[in-house]
Amino acid sequence: MPPAIVCIGMAGSGKTTFMRRINAYLHSKQTPPYVINLDPAVLSVPFESNIDIRDSVNYEEVMKQYNLGPNGGILTSLNLFATKVDQIVNLLEKRAVPDPVAPDRKPIENILVDTPGQIEVFVWSASGTILLESLASSFPTVIAYIIDTPRTSSTSTFMSNMLYACSILYKTKLPMILVFNKTDVKDASFAKEWMTDFEAFQEALRRDEDADLMGGGEGASGHGGSGYMGSLLNSMSLMLEEFYSHLSVVGVSSKVGTGIDEFFEAVEEKKKEFIDDYLPELQRRR
Ligand code: GDP
Ligand code: MG
Repeated sequence: MPPAIVCIGMAGSGKTTFMRRINAYLHSKQTPPYVINLDPAVLSVPFESNIDIRDSVNYEEVMKQYNLGPNGGILTSLNLFATKVDQIVNLLEKRAVPDPVAPDRKPIENILVDTPGQIEVFVWSASGTILLESLASSFPTVIAYIIDTPRTSSTSTFMSNMLYACSILYKTKLPMILVFNKTDVKDASFAKEWMTDFEAFQEALRRDEDADLMGGGEGASGHGGSGYMGSLLNSMSLMLEEFYSHLSVVGVSSKVGTGIDEFFEAVEEKKKEFIDDYLPELQRRR
């Protein structure tokens, strides 16, 4: 069965640009993917999608009709769409095997899913959960967590982003690839170092704290060393170390196109992990 790659990330991290890039990559390999857009509020989708939430629900109309703001509109659109998930999974299953009527139509080898800009609407809603669980019941499903590398280069934003990724792993219980995007602007080597070398991260914490002090920053209460923040950060680092050990990490530039081969190697790895580790667990829970 083809893997379903679900792109999740903060607004502006580059999910849509990344989707466009991996879509073009797969087309160039003569293996066009099946593409699903779940963002009802996007104005234009820069890639050909097979299923588009905007074809079945009109986000503007939903907002008007139910008297909702933007977030409520997205959530309600997603809810309306989730009622069709069985049909979609059926369709995908048919496309994943050779078609007896059209034998020259190749089965799809990848399913790509773009999610709404507002990450929490997808991750923390019942319909997001239903969509993910339905996908995962038929296909090896992998989360691609997209990170804005230049905007996560301070220790505090980095830590927040990793904790968020960890909470998504905990919520979805699906294998995850951390995709450090925009490496044309900032290389991801600092992140890889922080994720493998606890000492290096501590060192960076101390540096950022010193910079805070010099700038007269408030709340510089002894991060790397003693005090409540210090011991909290130490404990969190230990927790994150365990988290990191379950992840694949790749640096890409969706703009320039670097790192995409590595990304698909990681997908292959996570697909195996899904079948070996996650599937038995999913079946046990059902
Ligand atoms: P989304 O909200 O997560 O779907 O993010 P978008 O794909 O719409 O991208 C947000 C912004 O980041 C846009 O201005 C993109 O052009 C920019 N962007 C996305 N990927 C890259 C990248 O790899 N490098 C650079 N320099 N900019 C990027
Ligand atoms: Mg987008």
